[in-house]
Amino acid sequence: MHLLILGGTTEATELGRALAADARVRATISLAGRTQRPLPQPLPTRTGGFGGAEGLARYLTEHRIDALIDATHPFATQMTHNAVAAARMASTPLLVVLRPAWQPVAGDRWHRVASMAAAAEALGPVPRRVLLTVGQKDLAPFTNAPHRFVLRSVDPPPPEVLPRSVEFIAARGPFKEADERALLIDQRIEVIVTKNSGGTATEGKLAAARALGLQVVMVERPPVPPVETVGTVAEVLAWLDHRHAGALRGE
Ligand code: NAP
Repeated sequence: MHLLILGGTTEATELGRALAADARVRATISLAGRTQRPLPQPLPTRTGGFGGAEGLARYLTEHRIDALIDATHPFATQMTHNAVAAARMASTPLLVVLRPAWQPVAGDRWHRVASMAAAAEALGPVPRRVLLTVGQKDLAPFTNAPHRFVLRSVDPPPPEVLPRSVEFIAARGPFKEADERALLIDQRIEVIVTKNSGGTATEGKLAAARALGLQVVMVERPPVPPVETVGTVAEVLAWLDHRHAGALRGE
């Protein structure tokens, strides 16, 4: 059985690790090529866009892909839309892995918004010290904001997209709650801006904000197209076992 895994997430790497040990499955992980030093992957990789849904459909057909697993980030919406369209065009079974969103608990001070522009707006006109944990392509609404930003992401963004007042921290999760709390205190942060990515690797900042009574501007997820979806890698493995048991037995 030949799988294509759309990756760039903890789940894709974890799935790759599980499948690397399974002799019945041949799988390739696809990366967009956004990060300068991607983490080593447990399976063969290919890198770069496919050229839209049509390009992905062509790839699925040419490489005789038996199933497509979209394990991209919950905010990688374009890729998921392309995966849905391409799977339909190539008649390839598709499963989307969507980790559960974070939910507020007692003590949280979340301001929930629907977009990055709304997050920038929610910070208001009075200068504040903001921890911004978003990607390079999310920065435009903050460029002219009056705030003092501490921006954390994997690679440094190009100078032209940076906010006016910014300190950049290059770091890749997972992040521990105690370290997050120390960062918030050291940098005298007043508010955090984050996407509702879900998962455990970056949730330490939420617990740290709760403990310190800080506000979190939470950008909620864009809608997902109607498609078969699971929340965990274990469920992907079960899907492969049940739905494709014949293929896995070599029938
Ligand atoms: P996106 O906006 O949904 O996708 C834009 C284009 O990038 C896609 O149309 C596709 O180009 C290409 N692409 C995206 N993911 C790809 C993959 N896994 N393999 C090959 N091409 C891919 O995606 P994004 O938000 O920029 O995310 C890019 C990558 O970073 C993904 O792997 C995602 O899992 C990871 N990531 C994203 C975030 C986030 O907040 N968005 C956070 C952590 C990790 P073509 O149309 O040419 O095929």
